[in-house]
Amino acid sequence: MTKEFETKAIRTSFDTNKREEHSTALYLTSSYVFEDAEEMRAKFAGELEGNIYSRYSNSNTTELIEKMKALEGVEAGWATASGMAAIFTTFGALLQSGDHVLACKSVFGSTHNVLTKILPKWGITYTYVDVNNTESWEDAIQENTKVVFVETPTNPGLDIIDLEWLSELARKHQLISIIDNCFATPYLQQPIEFGFDLILHSATKYLDGQGRVTGGLILGKQSLIDQVEAFARHSGPALSPFNAWIISKSLETLSIRMDRHCENALKLAIWLEDHEEVALVKYPHLPSHPNYVIAKKQMKQGGGIVSFELKGGLTSGRNFLNQLAMISLTANLGDTRSIATHPASTTHSKLSEEERMELGITPGLIRISVGLEHINDIINDIEKALKQ
Ligand SMILES: *Cc1c(COP(=O)(O)O)cnc(C)c1O
Repeated sequence: MTKEFETKAIRTSFDTNKREEHSTALYLTSSYVFEDAEEMRAKFAGELEGNIYSRYSNSNTTELIEKMKALEGVEAGWATASGMAAIFTTFGALLQSGDHVLACKSVFGSTHNVLTKILPKWGITYTYVDVNNTESWEDAIQENTKVVFVETPTNPGLDIIDLEWLSELARKHQLISIIDNCFATPYLQQPIEFGFDLILHSATKYLDGQGRVTGGLILGKQSLIDQVEAFARHSGPALSPFNAWIISKSLETLSIRMDRHCENALKLAIWLEDHEEVALVKYPHLPSHPNYVIAKKQMKQGGGIVSFELKGGLTSGRNFLNQLAMISLTANLGDTRSIATHPASTTHSKLSEEERMELGITPGLIRISVGLEHINDIINDIEKALKQ
């Protein structure tokens, strides 16, 4: 077994089929044939490993899972059609009527919908806790709390949650700790090291990293993934072999892409801190970040996202976006192409002003997913837009 991250991302592969291709073949098949009745029986009984049907497994999804297991340092994994399918499948597999979820307040928009609109249909309740008021977390734990769910860095405020502290709290209360590790990727942050039970990903973001496909992963302890598998085999959120093939190939360049995303983002964050139109810059590895010390401890680099607050508020936020010539206005993040969003008027527009302020989504907040273009061109585009 090879050791370093880069090598695992490139060389870990599943290979039941003897093959000659140097690049993994694409297995577009919905089912697999058996040698005889005995093999068929044994595979269905789970006595023999191997593919049966692509809703359960496929050579391409298995290769992707094997790589991600190696990168996150976990025992087991499951692949899903999107990041949201990973989140919903995890909740569906682990929770039942009467259970309660503790979650950090600033979860991804669709996760917020699952917690507040979908799970309550089955009698599953939730409490949001304030990321920056850690004392309130323990008070929010109830008799029926089953899981604690967080994102760090959070979106779009880039707040940082102390993973080691939280996993200890979860263990003390026998809660399953779950993290959406999408913003950091396993290259920057490996939650298993800090004691987390389950790690979820939207592979749509940095893991593909080129804005082409959707995908998701659930990674962690075998006993928990067994429950995920029991749910997913029959509810069917399977990742397509084609998308698995794309994402698996993308993982081979994850480390060098993340290095450049982070290098560009840090340069942009430092440049923005000195700009007169900018009131505040949020970036995990800037010394001005309130949780800089924790971010340094648990993240290898600061990530590819920079948030900043314009002095002029809502109008200047919208004007800024309209003046950008190169940077794309789109809903994605973690792409080779730089992307700008204005959360107050888009992703978080349905919240009240008060709710937005609680999440740190001020009217002039801009989020940049810093891409892989040359940093001079990224800064030039932003500088021109700030001048207007
Ligand atoms: C995009 C995203 C998701 C959802 O992933 P999809 O692949 O779009 O379903 C979940 N969590 C975070 C933090 C995200 O950025």
